[in-house]
Amino acid sequence: MKFVDEYRNAEIANKYATAIASITTRPWTIMEICGGQTHSIVKYGIDRLLPPEITLIHGPGCPVCVTSVDLIDKAIAVASRPEVILCSFGDMLRVPGSKSQDLLTVKATGGDVRIVYSPLDAVKIAQQNPEHQVVLFAVGFETTVPTTAMAVYQAKQLGISNFSLLVAHVLVPPAMKMILASPNNCVQGFLAAGHVCTVTGYEEYQAIALQYNIPIVVTGFEPVDILQGIYMCVKQLETGTVEVENQYARSVSFVGNRAAQQLVSAVFETAPRQWRGIGTIDDSGLKLRAEYSEFDALNRFRLEIKPIQEATYCISGAILQGMKKPHQCPAFGNKCTPEHPLGAPMVSSEGACAAYYRYRQLVETVGEPPVHIQ
Ligand code: SF4
Repeated sequence: MKFVDEYRNAEIANKYATAIASITTRPWTIMEICGGQTHSIVKYGIDRLLPPEITLIHGPGCPVCVTSVDLIDKAIAVASRPEVILCSFGDMLRVPGSKSQDLLTVKATGGDVRIVYSPLDAVKIAQQNPEHQVVLFAVGFETTVPTTAMAVYQAKQLGISNFSLLVAHVLVPPAMKMILASPNNCVQGFLAAGHVCTVTGYEEYQAIALQYNIPIVVTGFEPVDILQGIYMCVKQLETGTVEVENQYARSVSFVGNRAAQQLVSAVFETAPRQWRGIGTIDDSGLKLRAEYSEFDALNRFRLEIKPIQEATYCISGAILQGMKKPHQCPAFGNKCTPEHPLGAPMVSSEGACAAYYRYRQLVETVGEPPVHIQ
């Protein structure tokens, strides 16, 4: 297949759904680990095409959703300083911190908060505003880390001293291990995130598959990709096979993008990271190496990472670990909506609560058919 429409073709999708049903003999629970996949599953009604034995659960694959309340509070505090221009991806602006304030409120009250589409834009803003401190709120999984690393590398090469990073980057494999090691784990197979593996490859996932005896299929984001990924995963489960397979071969190779990986490891090293609603996971975050510590906003503004008591009404932690679905949150659709979000998964374009609100609530309210594949 060459064109994106072909990956949304109803006939091909239905063939995969039939093939999955034909090989399924017992219940299986599969987790997708990417917010983009979650949105496709809910938008296209993929879970409703599957036999009742297959349960899909949504993992912690939305970087905006897992950014800790403490880091959101720090971004708000830094953005409120008169000498600072805070640069961020748009999704972060409406994520509430511990006092229900967000970056959009800071912007509305005069703070200089700017939406950027690439970390390199923030370097340009620093060059254009030498009298200001420009801080990039660096959020994202392995997919976005290379461009952040390039931004810091460029800033160092160009001698730009008014640029720094508030680093919130997170890594997928430690989160998968945390879920699998939990006594509450019910995941029997994983769909790994295709775009993350485009950068990292899937070498590292082999050890996870073997250690936890679990099939992993690197999967894309279109409906046919996801159904093919589920088919490959169910086939492994039904035959007792445990390996890492690559459904998304048009983008992912075994070793990934070596140049990007080298740049990332020259600039960053792993560190413990607090995940919103989940807690601290060892080696699941990145921090700047000592050679780049001058670009660390935590040092520049003397900010300390502190654990913060999170709001109990938001069950995002349980949702991000696949223990609950968004509609099981008492606040879903009433106190918490995209217009008035109480938690990050209702804000982000990759958040599970936003996906359920946007696609499923409407479907269930007006009785539209569940399957929207063209
Ligand atoms: S519906 Fe809102 S309050 Fe409930 S888990 Fe989702 S984001 Fe949190």
